[in-house]
Amino acid sequence: MARAAVLGRLTWQFGTLAEIVRETPRVSSLFFDVPEWPGHLAGQHVDVRLTADDGYRAERSYSIASAPQDKRLALTVERLDDGEVSPYLVGELRAGDRLELRGPIGGYFVWRGDEDRPLLLIGGGSGIVPLMSMLRHRGRIGSKTPARLLFSSRTLADVIYREELEHLGAAGDGLRVVHTLTREKPAGWTGYTRRIDEAMLREVAWPNKDSPAVFVCGPTPFVEAAASLLVAMGHDARSIKTERFGATGG
Ligand SMILES: Cc1cc2nc3c(=O)[nH]c(=O)nc-3n(C[C@H](O)[C@H](O)[C@H](O)COP(=O)(O)OP(=O)(O)OC[C@H]3O[C@@H](n4cnc5c(N)ncnc54)[C@H](O)[C@@H]3O)c2cc1C
Repeated sequence: MARAAVLGRLTWQFGTLAEIVRETPRVSSLFFDVPEWPGHLAGQHVDVRLTADDGYRAERSYSIASAPQDKRLALTVERLDDGEVSPYLVGELRAGDRLELRGPIGGYFVWRGDEDRPLLLIGGGSGIVPLMSMLRHRGRIGSKTPARLLFSSRTLADVIYREELEHLGAAGDGLRVVHTLTREKPAGWTGYTRRIDEAMLREVAWPNKDSPAVFVCGPTPFVEAAASLLVAMGHDARSIKTERFGATGG
């Protein structure tokens, strides 16, 4: 990576919020113009820093939702009502506001799109964000790598990127999108309606012999449950990459 890119990653810089898109009642995507952005890989994240008038600072990590090819840097944030930072990002920040961010960060939970192994993405709630960057990247480069997304949400209304996922899944380029809802069974719903379990993974995941590249992201208990199930089913632990977003959720 070029020197300027490494420096850019480590330095705080301002991004200007250009657009806000409401994804679900609790989740919004924020699109930033970042003049010195050094570029990123699908799956990486940024640190965001807020500074109050009295100098108090709070810092949080957010996955990058946009594809590396996109002009603007997108973050998708879920508002936790008792949270310190997310209610500000989702409820207070307005187009034209500036925000300090630093990145891209992380070289492990990334998908470059340059290998033939099938791709298995397992996301819970806002854990879809870095997986979406990978799927957007896959679409932009015209990859035909077989890919499956298993996405767990509480209710249909909570499904982040629902329409875009529908389009991507209908493109006929080897991506299959599978949803499970953990707290609702809407009328006419034909998808799963339970937490991810072994029977579901056996139906959705490639068998271990196909050596899929596996990415699991979401709240910590979700990630640990899904990864343990895969390992118990014989998947190679080294092929399972995980990103834990935090405490509870689910
Ligand atoms: C690498 C990485 C990438 C992340 N990417 C995203 C992302 O793309 N989108 C996104 O919305 N969040 C993401 N997060 C989570 C994010 O960093 C914050 O933890 C989250 O926004 C809560 O911050 P807060 O200040 O609002 O809440 P806090 O004030 O930190 O916490 C408020 C309350 O919520 C609980 N809590 C904290 N984090 C979570 C959580 N993730 N789920 C459920 N309960 C929690 C705490 O236990 C506490 O009770 C990511 C985290 C990591 C480590």
